[in-house]
Amino acid sequence: MINLVLFGKPGAGKGTQASFLKEQFNLVHISTGDLFRSNIQNETPLGLLAKSYMDQGDLVPDQVTIDMLEAEVDKNPKAQGFIFDGFPRTKAQAEALDAFLKEKNMSISATIALEAADDVLVDRLLERGKSSGRTDDQDEAKIRNRFEEYNLKTAPLRDYYTKQGKFQSVSGIGSIEAITERLTELINSLS
Ligand code: AMP
Repeated sequence: MINLVLFGKPGAGKGTQASFLKEQFNLVHISTGDLFRSNIQNETPLGLLAKSYMDQGDLVPDQVTIDMLEAEVDKNPKAQGFIFDGFPRTKAQAEALDAFLKEKNMSISATIALEAADDVLVDRLLERGKSSGRTDDQDEAKIRNRFEEYNLKTAPLRDYYTKQGKFQSVSGIGSIEAITERLTELINSLS
């Protein structure tokens, strides 16, 4: 079983790459951002709550996010592995994920960071915002706030996974295909 965490700032390409990797390695892709957006679209209470944070570029509270993620994993008992995209984003989430997987005799195989400079990411997100309709991609101040949230709360997870010997990084610059190739090579080297 391969369980991957795709790590990286907003716009690093986690979702794009996950959609290729899930096919290639037969994994279930779970994006907490996508799950929140689908809740918002369906006007669920969870969506309503998440929207108030997402609209500002703030993280949604841990427990809500952890409960949603765990429910999604439980919906896929036959999965051969998972790609976690956009989760964990805080130390509390990472610890909860480890504990949850351990109960199921599962564990994270690797955390792979997609690296790119902030200015490149801002340009990518503003471009994406033109077609995605995502309001959090259309306003540079919100984008910068998402980076701040990342630096403050998510970046420390580098240390968390490095201590477990599970942190790897790959350049997120280049063509989509070239980056998929880098990731594929790395994932193949895990087993
Ligand atoms: P994303 O699609 O991954 O860029 O996520 C969009 C937004 O959803 C983030 O800016 C957060 O507001 C929220 N979100 C997604 N994943 C998480 C998470 N693991 N923890 C807290 N908030 C999250």
